[in-house]
Amino acid sequence: MMRQDSVIEVDGVTRRFGSLTAVDGVSLELGEGEFFALLGPSGCGKTTLLRLIAGFEIPDAGRILLDGNDITRLRPNRRPVNLMFQSYALFPHMTVRANIAYGLEMEKRPKDEIRSRVADILAMTELTALADRKPDKLSGGQRQRVALARALVKRPRVLLLDEPLGALDKKLREQMQLELKKLQHELGITFVVVTHDQDEALVMADRIALMKDGVIAQAGSPRELYENPASRFVAGFIGVTNFFEGRAADGGVIVDGHGLLQGTGATGIAAGERVALAVRPERIALSREAGLAGHNAVAGDIADLAYHGQDVNLLVRVDGVDRPVMVRLTAAEEEQGNFQPGQRVWCNWRPEHGRVLKD
Ligand code: ATP
Repeated sequence: MMRQDSVIEVDGVTRRFGSLTAVDGVSLELGEGEFFALLGPSGCGKTTLLRLIAGFEIPDAGRILLDGNDITRLRPNRRPVNLMFQSYALFPHMTVRANIAYGLEMEKRPKDEIRSRVADILAMTELTALADRKPDKLSGGQRQRVALARALVKRPRVLLLDEPLGALDKKLREQMQLELKKLQHELGITFVVVTHDQDEALVMADRIALMKDGVIAQAGSPRELYENPASRFVAGFIGVTNFFEGRAADGGVIVDGHGLLQGTGATGIAAGERVALAVRPERIALSREAGLAGHNAVAGDIADLAYHGQDVNLLVRVDGVDRPVMVRLTAAEEEQGNFQPGQRVWCNWRPEHGRVLKD
C-alpha cells in the first residue's frame, strides 16, 4: 500500500549484473519533503538503487512509481527527478551564473524566467557574490554549492545526490551537511542522498535505509536505527557498540564466565542460539568497589583513556571478553571517578539498555 504522502515508491526492485544481484527485491517509500539517506558499506548497492530511481538503470524485476504513476521504463530526462553530479562536472569555461542557467536554456525557457530563477537559486545557495566567477576561482565547498544550485534550478520533484560531500575535507563536510539540510528544509524538495558515512546520515537524514548485499537491513529514523537496531550488522554500522558474545536464554544472553546478562530481545531468536548482547558505550556506568544493584555488571581492568573534549572514552578489558569494552563518560563523570589505566572497575548497565541481536 502506498502512503498518502509518498512521492516515490520502489516496489520489489531487482537489478542484476551478470551473476551478481546488486539490488535484490528492494521496497521503499520516499515521503514528500523527506531527507532520505541510502547508507551502507561499499558495494552494498546504494548507487545502483539511486540510478534505478534516476532512470539510468532499468530493473530486472519490480516497479518504480512517482506520485502513483509507473515510471519504471521512463527515460531519465522525462522524470521529474534530478541527479546531482559531482562538482568536477561543472563547465570550466562558464561562469557560475552560466553554469546554473545552462539546464534551463537547454529547455528553451524564456529569458526573463531564466534570469529570475537563477537569481533566486544564487541567493538561496549564497552564491550571488560569486555569480561571475569561473569554477577554478572557487573553493571546493563553493563549487559543490554551484553543482547543487545547477540541479535545484530545474525544480525537480526529487533530488538525488551520490556522495555529494565526498570530495570535501572533514571540517567543510560537517559545515555543508548542515547547509544541505537547511536548504532541503527551505525548499521542501525530497532529497535522496547516498553516503557510506553513518555520522553524515545521522546528522542530515529524516530517514535512513541501511543496505547490505543488495537488501535493506533496516529503514527508519536515525533514532530508531540507533536505539532499536534490528540486527548485529545495524548495531555495528550505526554508532559504536559493544558486543558480548554468548547464547540466547530467557531474558538475555549467557556469556562464558559472566552468567546471564539481561537484555531485551529482537524477535525470532530461539534459546541456545549464538547471539550477542549489544550495549552502547554511553549506557555503561563505571563503579570501583562492586557492581551496581539492578544492573548488569561485569568486572575488568581499565586499559586506556582517550579525551574527546566533553567526553572521555575508556577501554576496559573485561575478564574473558576478547575485545576491550568501550565506555563513554562525560568529562565530569570521569573526573569525579578519577579513573586511571590499570584500575579494577565494574561496568554496569541497566537490562533495558542491552539488546539481544543476531546477524
Ligand atoms: P560504493 O559505495 O563503493 O559506490 P555502492 O553501495 O554504491 O558502493 P553499487 O555501486 O551500487 O554499490 O554496486 C553494487 C554492486 O554491483 C557492486 O558489487 C558493483 O561492483 C556492482 N555493479 C555496479 N554497477 C555495475 C555494472 N554496470 N556492471 C557490473 N557490475 C556492477
